Amino acid sequence: MRLKSIELNGFKSFSKKTVLEFTHPIVCIVGPNGSGKSNVVEAIRYVLGEQSMKSMRGKAGTDLIFKGSKQLPKGNRASVAIYFDNSDKIFKLTNDGGEDINLNYDTISIAREVYTDGLNKYILNGSEVRLKDINNLLASVNVGSSGHHIISQGEADRILNASPKDRKEMIEDALGLKIYQYKIKESERKLERTRENMKEVVLLRRENAPHLKFLERQVEKFEKAKKMSAELAILYREYLKKESIFLENEKSHLAKEKSKILNELKGIDAKISDIPDETSRTGNKKIEELREVEEKVNEIRNEKNEKGRQLGRIEGILEAKENKVKIAGRCPLCGNEIKEMHPEQIEKRQNEEKELQALKNSHTSILAEMKNLEAAEKKGVQSIETLKQAINKEMESLRDKEREKFAWKVKYQELSSNLELINIKEANVSKGEETFQNEVREGRALIGEEILSYKTFSAQDGSVPGGQVLINPEEQEELRKKIERIKIKLEDAGVGGGSEILKEFNEVSERDKFLTKEMEDLAESVKSLEKIMADLKEKVDVEFKEGIKKINIEFKEFFTLMFGGGSGSLSVIVENKKKKRDEAMEEEGEVPFEEDETTPEQGIDINVSLPHKKVKELQALSGGERSLTSIALLFAMSQVNPPPFLVLDETDAALDEANSRKYGDMLEKLSKHSQLVVVTHNRETMSRASMLYGVTIGFDSASKLLSVKFDEAVAIAK
Ligand code: ATP
Repeated sequence: MRLKSIELNGFKSFSKKTVLEFTHPIVCIVGPNGSGKSNVVEAIRYVLGEQSMKSMRGKAGTDLIFKGSKQLPKGNRASVAIYFDNSDKIFKLTNDGGEDINLNYDTISIAREVYTDGLNKYILNGSEVRLKDINNLLASVNVGSSGHHIISQGEADRILNASPKDRKEMIEDALGLKIYQYKIKESERKLERTRENMKEVVLLRRENAPHLKFLERQVEKFEKAKKMSAELAILYREYLKKESIFLENEKSHLAKEKSKILNELKGIDAKISDIPDETSRTGNKKIEELREVEEKVNEIRNEKNEKGRQLGRIEGILEAKENKVKIAGRCPLCGNEIKEMHPEQIEKRQNEEKELQALKNSHTSILAEMKNLEAAEKKGVQSIETLKQAINKEMESLRDKEREKFAWKVKYQELSSNLELINIKEANVSKGEETFQNEVREGRALIGEEILSYKTFSAQDGSVPGGQVLINPEEQEELRKKIERIKIKLEDAGVGGGSEILKEFNEVSERDKFLTKEMEDLAESVKSLEKIMADLKEKVDVEFKEGIKKINIEFKEFFTLMFGGGSGSLSVIVENKKKKRDEAMEEEGEVPFEEDETTPEQGIDINVSLPHKKVKELQALSGGERSLTSIALLFAMSQVNPPPFLVLDETDAALDEANSRKYGDMLEKLSKHSQLVVVTHNRETMSRASMLYGVTIGFDSASKLLSVKFDEAVAIAK
């Protein structure tokens, strides 16, 4: 890495584009007072990112723009570009993520521009970048931002004037530890960001937690329900299978029973109808007949009595008549007498005889009639007897039939009742089937289509030879109760949309897992950042101490050389600095910390011991002595860790001739490791330069640059 050139354009007194090439180890810039030499040094400061306007002798960025003159218009921007040889690819730059940015350029150019509106730009190889990037980039090549390697005019003893803490910073910078400080700062920022992220993650997780917990519980419930469903499915399979078998058995059994009873009923019905109800009618006819016969017999008897009475009367008359005839009718001469008897009479007698004969005839006929009647009566009585017997017999047989019919009717009734019972049972089976279907429907709602698997389930238990399966109702009842219990539990669990919940749970828990992982990663990076920081701090600490030792060796040497004796050394001191009070906090009425709270702060003390003098305090040194001490220290620092270049603006101003020579010797020594850009009026210093630039300022108030020879330089410098 080498400083190649610098290009000023509109910067301060350099109104036009002016290029300084640094092709030699020692380049001197010479010129009269006010010609613009220091402006070149400031241009270098400026382009390297100087933030202090004061150190560039301005108030605002716009002060750096060429102000114009009578002859020349004012500029609208000031621009400086610096070029470094990077063929060894030493420049490094990382992005905010810590990754290397490709800087595979042979030349690194850094440009900085300021515009009349105050706008400031940093450009790295044509791309606009941030100041931070410039600082990091330069730190990688040991060009620190503290500017220890650029000594402005009148600032030769800057390090002496600086506070112990600022000195420490300058020395750290000179030792090239700034890059580590940047890294520590960067790590601190990262750590802070990481901790912020952690807080965010914690918040996010906390935010998620109740939802996750809820979902977890839901999923737990769901899993439980799933288990229960599985259990239910098993129970259902057995229960439904057995139930279906039971219903089937019951149905076929009842159907058989029913058809048997129906057959029996049919037979009984036939039997009952075979016994006619009209059997009594036959009996009735006979009774009618008997009544008729009895009537007839009565009639006959009445007639017989009548005939008897007639007969009695006739017999009485006949007796009376016969007696009369006997008397009159003692008829010794019977026929003769009648002829001899009175005619009237005779006539009368004849009449009487006639009458008697008639009576006798009647008697005979009545007797005959009586005989007939008696025969008829006998016949009638016989008939009555026969009829009565027949009727009795018929009645007897009728009663038997009735009894039989009654018995069948009773049987019929009994079977009808049985049939009724079977109908009721069948209705129950139907109801059972309905219940069964409802159960299947309910089951389907609970465990889905799996419910139908009961159909293929083989209920082995209780099977008897012949393939029939006997169902134990008690066991079925047990199963049913178990099923009911699980159903209730499932309903209580009330987990609908399980898959949705599971999906959401997976998402939320994935997110939580992600956040946990993120948290672990963040904790891991906190750890590694802390480790990195500790390592860096350790490294800085070690290298700082080492550096101080080395500087002290060089310092002593340069000091003795400059002063011809005596000694100079650096020592690390720890100051207990009072903590700065936070005024804003105080205004709020809060006391941020105790009045006497302090923080330890490391700093650097410079100890000198001049030859032949007792003076040890820096304040007591003369201007020249201060310059010599500063130069000795500065050169010692540069010797230990040579910066790529050193810019010295009239650092030699206070030196006498003898010391100027020593200064020149030291320049040559330093130039072996660092390029030197030296602004000087000193002839001795000029004589050590291998390249000289003369700066002049014309009547147009614009600085001009020209390459000059030593003699010209000496002339110009005056
Ligand atoms: P010395 O030898 O006395 O230290 P020098 O050569 O270092 O002098 P500088 O201090 O670099 O001189 O130059 C200062 C000159 O630059 C002054 O004349 C000043 O007017 C001029 N100058 C400063 N800022 C501007 C500006 N913005 N525009 C024009 N000229 C400026």
